[in-house]
Amino acid sequence: MFDYDYARRRMVEAHIVGRGVRDERVLAALRTVPREAFVDKGYEAFAYEDGPLPIGNGQTISQPFIVARMAEAAGIAPGDRVLEIGTGSGYAAAILAELASTVFSIERHGELAAKAKRRLRRAGYGNVAIKVGDGTKGWAERAPFDAILVAAGGPSVPLSLKNQLAIGGRLVIPVGDRSGEQRLLRVTRSAPDAFAEEDLGGVTFVPLIGEEGWANPATPP
Ligand code: SAM
Repeated sequence: MFDYDYARRRMVEAHIVGRGVRDERVLAALRTVPREAFVDKGYEAFAYEDGPLPIGNGQTISQPFIVARMAEAAGIAPGDRVLEIGTGSGYAAAILAELASTVFSIERHGELAAKAKRRLRRAGYGNVAIKVGDGTKGWAERAPFDAILVAAGGPSVPLSLKNQLAIGGRLVIPVGDRSGEQRLLRVTRSAPDAFAEEDLGGVTFVPLIGEEGWANPATPP
């Protein structure tokens, strides 16, 4: 039988520690969450190859390294309220649920959101709330958030997300080309009108589709 625990530990050492992630809480979360429970049937054996995998609706489960990198950059503390945009498979939401007190996650595809909800429930994560909608507008009723992580790349930083950060809150988001390389940005809010932006390096993400993101290719202009 395939030894998932061994494969998970090996993947964390080789691809996550090996590529520079040092936050012990993030590493512990990656050693805990069973990624095989968040991939589609038939892909379980590939769950620890540190690559994206298809999850339906033309979307992918994020690469574990990038999930770890973003979680580390967001500097999540145990009592934090975190917003994730782009639930996808629910894997990153599970990692965030290990790090924070409450996770709110938004997915634009209803089918993916429903599947992620089932997976998170089965895996025992009771501190994740998921809704279907346009995550570029955030989740105003649940704001402010200590951290916001966006798992899709937009043309710019959505104003709604900046405005839903708590003072001291961190927003981690890929910004750049629709289908080329993007820059991973961390925006920190230090006062109601003061935001500092840092460039954390080049990344490649699926497009962030929505009112404050890219236009939906399925919608005629
Ligand atoms: N974090 C996910 C995981 O661990 O499986 C992977 C996310 S996948 C790379 C990006 C997701 O963002 C896709 O599921 C896509 O449908 C979603 N997405 C894109 N634009 C969105 C938007 N405006 N609001 C909510 N979800 C969006």
